[in-house]
Amino acid sequence: MLKFYNTLSRKKEVFRPRKKKKVNLFVCGPTTYDFSHLGHARTYISYDMLVNYLKFLGYKIFYLQNITDIDDKIILRAKKEKKKWLELARFFEKEYLKDMKALKIDSVTRYARATEHIEEIQSQVKRLLKKGYAYQIEDGIYYDIKKFKDYGKLSRRSVEQAEDAVSRIDTARKKRNIGDFCLWKFSKANEPKWPSPWGDGRPGWHIEDTAISEKYFGVQYDIHGGARDLVFPHHEAEIAQMEAVSNKKPMVKYWLHAGFLTINGRKMAKSLGNFITIKDFLKKYIPDVLRFIVFSSHYRSPLDFSDKLAKEAKTNLEKLEEFLRKLRETKGKPGKDNKNLIENFEKKFFEVLEDDFNTPKAKGLIFDFISKINKKIDENQLSQKETKTIYNFFKKINKIFNILDFKKIERKEVLSKEIKKLVELREKYRLQKNWKKVDEVRKKIKKLGYEIEDTSQGPKVKKD
Ligand SMILES: [Zn+2]
Repeated sequence: MLKFYNTLSRKKEVFRPRKKKKVNLFVCGPTTYDFSHLGHARTYISYDMLVNYLKFLGYKIFYLQNITDIDDKIILRAKKEKKKWLELARFFEKEYLKDMKALKIDSVTRYARATEHIEEIQSQVKRLLKKGYAYQIEDGIYYDIKKFKDYGKLSRRSVEQAEDAVSRIDTARKKRNIGDFCLWKFSKANEPKWPSPWGDGRPGWHIEDTAISEKYFGVQYDIHGGARDLVFPHHEAEIAQMEAVSNKKPMVKYWLHAGFLTINGRKMAKSLGNFITIKDFLKKYIPDVLRFIVFSSHYRSPLDFSDKLAKEAKTNLEKLEEFLRKLRETKGKPGKDNKNLIENFEKKFFEVLEDDFNTPKAKGLIFDFISKINKKIDENQLSQKETKTIYNFFKKINKIFNILDFKKIERKEVLSKEIKKLVELREKYRLQKNWKKVDEVRKKIKKLGYEIEDTSQGPKVKKD
């Protein structure tokens, strides 16, 4: 039975979507004022795998992501760089989408820009005003958190604790409570603005998500994801807005939060000089390495990135590829408990995934299984039919994780005539037991960049 840890209940719960096999999922998208970094990559790869997994299980998914293309940070950076805010926002949106494509993330059904949902945003603000949850002061419309009885239920904070956390980031003086957040911000001179019944302005950050999710999903839906640091105040505010508007709860049935990413044990920050963009990463490694790193850690756990970790991931991926190549060439006899071994592995693999998508455990099972199968291959105890079963299993689960390049694995190495001749020559000397000559030819082959290995099926040549 599939279970997910729900931040709202702080428990693992059996996953039962609102409408049987149909799942509506929303994940907070980027604010497009800068290049995306490894923290973003971790979050979005996690949800990409999760969505692929749900599809694999037969669910029909609508994966919705918002794009925050109007925000103080965008306005500020545009001013600094003497650019138009919209140009800057569109530029970084393009870069974000390029990064996602490079990371093989293709599960998002729809990206929705905040600026293209102003009408929906204003409609929610209107309803909140009418119901008495919102009020107007000189610089905008605010949400009164004391009016919403359930405020704090996701982050487990009281209104007072909420105020403590918010006071540093929002200092509008005339608010009723320090923790009250802005729904509609009146624009100052030369700032982007949209007309509204209350005055020209722009939307607050929290309201765009609920306006967008209401448009595509209605007032209640299945899963909301995002990085853990969004639980408060962002997701708490979303609940306050939507449940106050609709009078229906819960707005979201399952809240799934992804863990933080640190770099060598420290928070990633430009000021610390350890800020790694996705583009930086991809200059050094292939995307599969990052996907493998994400796969190796649980989506809810913190992930500490380092070059050592990336190198380990690279080595592990190579091991996996090597194993799959070897499988394709294995034609042994059927072994004794092979059937059991393979079936148990597959069963356990899917069991750990059902338990809150425990990918590190799944990874452990894979490498344990590989070492057992490698032994069987060495002992000539694996039939072609069995290798095919195993190979196809890996091909199947790669639809979820997308960490392996099967085209590369299945590409036939075309050897030059020269190498082929040398291999034949070496084989001739080997059968004559002329070890000195064997070694000489081996060295020649190595000089050309190839390594030769004797297996039960004859000599095998591979790139050094
Ligand atoms: Zn959001």
